[in-house]
Amino acid sequence: MDCTRRLTPVAPMCYRCRELTDSGKTCPTCRAHSDLFAVRAVAVYQGVAKDLVWQLKFKGAQAAATEIAATMARFAPHSPEYVLVPASTATSRVRQRGFDQATLIARELARKTGLPFSRALRRSGQHHQVGANRAQRLIQLQHAYRVVATHTVQGKHVILIDDVLTTGATLEAAAKALKAAGAKRVSALVFARA
Ligand SMILES: [Zn+2]
Repeated sequence: MDCTRRLTPVAPMCYRCRELTDSGKTCPTCRAHSDLFAVRAVAVYQGVAKDLVWQLKFKGAQAAATEIAATMARFAPHSPEYVLVPASTATSRVRQRGFDQATLIARELARKTGLPFSRALRRSGQHHQVGANRAQRLIQLQHAYRVVATHTVQGKHVILIDDVLTTGATLEAAAKALKAAGAKRVSALVFARA
């Protein structure tokens, strides 16, 4: 089944201010506030894209992971200095059930592209974000991630993998933790933009 035709593509833009940029690079103004070098979203979060994410999130459907990874693979680089890291939001309990969608996508993308894959990010705890504004969420997220297996990201260009992009606050927190752990550069490749 090929759903690529029915996905609405997203133009490459700065994820923060939505200015159009080459390959989704963060614009110079927003770079001052973010550790993310670039964020590339593939499809608009609607229709088929929304269905695929739902299947992945609530059923852990392998077929959905395969399709999502296939559309993302076209935007992935092919060089050993890159490493794919899932931007997992799941608790360890969810992860054990195998339904952590970022990990499902990243693993499939690694298989397709041959890029190295590392589950270097761990969530330190769950934080309620309901009703919080962007600044409050950033504070809540500041200590949300810790990096394990640091040797897998040191000196590398990390590509964070996630299913849905909203404000990018979670990715920013992950990027900060990865840079502190020695990553040379951090970008993100996300399936759908809300
Ligand atoms: Zn910008």
